[in-house]
Amino acid sequence: MPIPWNKGKKYPQVTGSKNPKWKGDKVGYSGIHKWVYNHFLKPNKCEHCGRNPGFSKNGTTLLQWANKSGKYLRKLSDWLCLCISCHALKDNYNQGEKHFHKLTEKQVLKIHKFYKTGKHSQRQLAKKFNVTHTTIGRIIRKQIWTHI
Ligand SMILES: [Zn+2]
Repeated sequence: MPIPWNKGKKYPQVTGSKNPKWKGDKVGYSGIHKWVYNHFLKPNKCEHCGRNPGFSKNGTTLLQWANKSGKYLRKLSDWLCLCISCHALKDNYNQGEKHFHKLTEKQVLKIHKFYKTGKHSQRQLAKKFNVTHTTIGRIIRKQIWTHI
């Protein structure tokens, strides 16, 4: 095996956050995402809510590929094409699909309804709907499920 030219060497100008091409610690993550974007054809609607979120102002689609298993396999079956709202929701529960499917649109509407009555705290709602307090907060602030 030939020894790689850079073995054991560290070049401060090309590593770390000083490098203009530095992408943070998620290099692997964005790498596979790029691959997915190049290899899979995007459906025209969100595979979770069935909505077509359309395009952003700069013309990019608002559908994003989300990984199902957390293993980032190069297989279409390991990916879901989601709108930004559903993707945010899923990332909040990256533990798995089980949680992801827990909330339905109806439930989210209920959360808003309950919260508006002033009788339920966010924490109580979290318990009631078996989601995290953070999720309830995000729903109420319309950071996720924005189309409801
Ligand atoms: Zn969606």
